[in-house]
Amino acid sequence: MHQGECLCGKVKFQITQKITDIIMCHCSECRRVQGSAFATNGNVENQNFTFLSGKDNLTEFKESDSKSRFFCQSCGSPIMAKIKNSPNHTRIRLGTITTDINEAIERHIFTDSKANWDNICDDIVQHKEW
Ligand SMILES: [Zn+2]
Ligand SMILES: [Zn+2]
Repeated sequence: MHQGECLCGKVKFQITQKITDIIMCHCSECRRVQGSAFATNGNVENQNFTFLSGKDNLTEFKESDSKSRFFCQSCGSPIMAKIKNSPNHTRIRLGTITTDINEAIERHIFTDSKANWDNICDDIVQHKEW
């Protein structure tokens, strides 16, 4: 249903379900890890997420005891995060997906900590924090 890859193309993956829980997070951590105004992330079940190549080319960054982020060690593309209290899911960075995403984006979160130059110009629900 979906395919994705990092910038250099070493890491490739496929997803065989609709992506769920799609949010745009404007928190300071997401801004730094993306180098951008916000991150757009969604959930897939582990059983529906498969690496086609490059799994060994990922580097894990343990952000905390409960969260790890994985990026391509060659080009730096952020691919996914794993959250300890949601062990059966993978949290995908939607910018790495190459197929069309027709699933709805559910909400903006952490708009209270968004960058001052970040103007939200859509009608999607906004939450100041979660
Ligand atoms: Zn890469
Ligand atoms: Zn965030």
